[in-house]
Amino acid sequence: MLGYDWPRLHAALNDLPVALLLAAVLFELAGVITKRAAFRSAGFWTLMLGAVGGAVAVVSGLQAEAHISHGDAVHRAMETHEELGLITLGIFGVLALWRLVRENRMGSAERAVSLAVALGGAAALFATGMYGGRLIFEHAAGIPTGVLQAEIQARTAGHEHAGGGEDSHDSAAHDGDHDHAAPPTVAESAAVAPVASPASDSAKPTTHTHAPGTPPHKD
Ligand SMILES: [Zn+2]
Repeated sequence: MLGYDWPRLHAALNDLPVALLLAAVLFELAGVITKRAAFRSAGFWTLMLGAVGGAVAVVSGLQAEAHISHGDAVHRAMETHEELGLITLGIFGVLALWRLVRENRMGSAERAVSLAVALGGAAALFATGMYGGRLIFEHAAGIPTGVLQAEIQARTAGHEHAGGGEDSHDSAAHDGDHDHAAPPTVAESAAVAPVASPASDSAKPTTHTHAPGTPPHKD
């Protein structure tokens, strides 16, 4: 729908729980420090929405895992990202249930413990996001091989811009659209070359094979 496949949907759906859960932890922290009920209330509801959003993010992530072409490096990073995501959802899921049951009966000690759990959840959330970012920015996970090859060719071809004299287009027309990095060096080209190798080119999700002893995909 609208050109959205599972990897794109996963990337889009992740924003909501990340923002909500971090806001929940900050509201809770403010509530413990200031003792104001409004912060606790804001923390409670952002936690509830964030936990639901986190479940949606995990489900879409498991779908994305099963629908992208990848090699061993991506596979390993995906497994770590998945484990961290499940740990994060587990922490905030337990916290949400805990608060649902105990919210109006919590003493200051119990509230302090729940805050410590929330801070642990925030750490897990950061780690999950970090590995998710690595998947995209270091491995181009979710970028179809054909798109990647076309982009490598376009970057290699380079791009002249205003001041270059032979620029055929107006810089104002796409001002701010992109940076004008120098064409890749030989080393950079070599670094991305394996991605476009015939072996990975033919690697479709269904034909992806794993090294002996690698656990199968959990999809
Ligand atoms: Zn794999």
